[in-house]
This record gives sequence, structure tokens and C-alpha cells, in this order.
Amino acid sequence: MVFNLPIYSPEEELHDPLFIEKQVQVFVKRDDKIHPFISGNKWRKLKYNLSYAHQLGKTDLVTFGGAWSNHILATAAAAAQFGFNSIGIIRGEEVNNPVLQMAQLFGMDLHFIDRQPYKDKALYFQENFDGSTHYFIDEGGRSTLAVKGCKEIISELTQTYSHILVAAGTGTTAAGLAVGIESQKLATNLLVIPVLKNADFILEDVKELGAPIDKINLLTEYHFGGYAKTKKELNDFIKDFVAKSGILIEPTYTGKLVYGMFDLIHKDYYPKGSRILFIHTGGLTGLLGHLDKMDFD
Ligand SMILES: *Cc1c(COP(=O)(O)O)cnc(C)c1O
Repeated sequence: MVFNLPIYSPEEELHDPLFIEKQVQVFVKRDDKIHPFISGNKWRKLKYNLSYAHQLGKTDLVTFGGAWSNHILATAAAAAQFGFNSIGIIRGEEVNNPVLQMAQLFGMDLHFIDRQPYKDKALYFQENFDGSTHYFIDEGGRSTLAVKGCKEIISELTQTYSHILVAAGTGTTAAGLAVGIESQKLATNLLVIPVLKNADFILEDVKELGAPIDKINLLTEYHFGGYAKTKKELNDFIKDFVAKSGILIEPTYTGKLVYGMFDLIHKDYYPKGSRILFIHTGGLTGLLGHLDKMDFD
């Protein structure tokens, strides 16, 4: 069994009068094109975990997430494709939405648990599953094997950039980028935009995952109220960006990232001649939870 997907994730240049005025170039790495459901960074985080689970003879993947988790859906789809059973442990009371329904369509069993036992996921796994057949994957896919997969974003690049921007939930993708940048001795600045409020802890988490943090700039002002929260200003920005670029983005991750990137261009953050790359980490099914609030007129 080969645990691989053919990767199609081109670096595309974007055009906007603002970029000409500020004399910068902007590119996007289209990890959203890797797979519609094993989306973007979630594939990169799962890849080495799947082969390791197989190597250990595990048959069932057990993972954790909130009710709109892209990681839950990605794990369900990957498990189906690569011959595992999957169990999704969902935080909070039983709910239903299109993301969870699609996860079930891919054959995932869902268990809803209280916020208290959810806090210690490793313990919950240990107490409820047989470790000889079941393989633990942390919330959001966070692990050192996931960092190894995300590092490959850097080795795939066909050009060099002065700045690379990425959104952060757990910071695992950012950790992989930091490791990749260091191992190739690139002079690239890594700008990380957390999508949660009060996210200064992310640097510690990135360090814990074995990545260097000295070249990371953490920009904590673009959370728009917190995880999965949005505001009219962000929704309006997203509508304008999608209609102009033809690139779909959503408010939970890449919308905040691209908003932050444009804001920094407006504020002359990047020196003239900068070559800026942002990573489109996918997760577009998250849009389904936001569309009815987008206020189309
Ligand atoms: C999960 C996710 C992230 C966050 O990635 P981390 O590695 O946890 O920081 C970013 N973007 C999208 C679209 C995601 O689904």
C-alpha cells in the first residue's frame, strides 16, 4: 500500500493594482487543490501518520475535533481511501452539520464527548480504545510526523520568496515550514497568523514540535474575535477577494491570512521588491458554516 496522493499544488501569481503601487509580487501555493476533502495541510499532516499506522499493523484511526473540523473530515476521507476504519471524537453535545455528515458518508463513526474528558485526549484514547489495533491522531493532526509532512511544502517550491505567510491553528503547518526553511538555509521570513485569540502560546507549541522559532514573526491581531469567528469587515473582504481572483477562501483560516497579508501591504510592511507567498491551506468545506451569514445583496 502506497500512502500517497499525487500532489498538484502550483504557485500562482496574483495581480492587483495595489501590488504594482507597492512594488511587491504576491503568489499563492494552492494546497487547496491537493484534494477536495483531504484538504491542503490536512493531507500533509496525515501522510506519514498513515504509513506509520499501517507499519504498526493498526486498523482504526481515532482522532479528535470540533463540529466543523476540517481535520475530522480529512481523516474520514483518507481512512476510506487507504483502507482504515475511522472514529471521530467530537467535542461537545451531539450536533449535525454537512461536515460531520460527509465524514459519516466516508464511513467514520462519530462519538460526542463532554468538554471535560475531551481536554486530555491521550488519556481518553488510552481508556477507551485498544492501542494494539487503534492509532491515536491528536486534534488537528498535530504531531512530529505531521511536521515532517508539512516541511515538504518548502521542498516543493519552484521559486524563492522573501516572505511566506501561513495561518495557524495548532501551529503544526508553521512548524513544518520553519523546519523546511531552516534545512534549506533559505533567507525567507515566515509570517504566521493565528486564527485564535490570545495565541502567543503558538510559538511555544511550535518549539515543542522541534521547529526553530527565531525566524517566525507571529502576527496575533488578525483573529477577528477568535476561532471560527468572523466580522462583516472580514466577510466583505472575502467576497471581494473571491470575486476578483477566482480563488475561494473561507473566514476561519485563509480568509484571515489573506486579509492580514493585504493589510500589511497597505501598511508598507514589506520592502519594495518583496516576493510574498501565502499558503492556501484548503479547508473550503468550512465555508458551509458561514455562507448564510455572508450577506449577499
Ligand atoms: C487545520 C487548518 C489550519 C491550521 O493548521 P495548523 O497546522 O493546525 O496550524 C489552517 N488552514 C486550514 C484550512 C485548516 O483546515
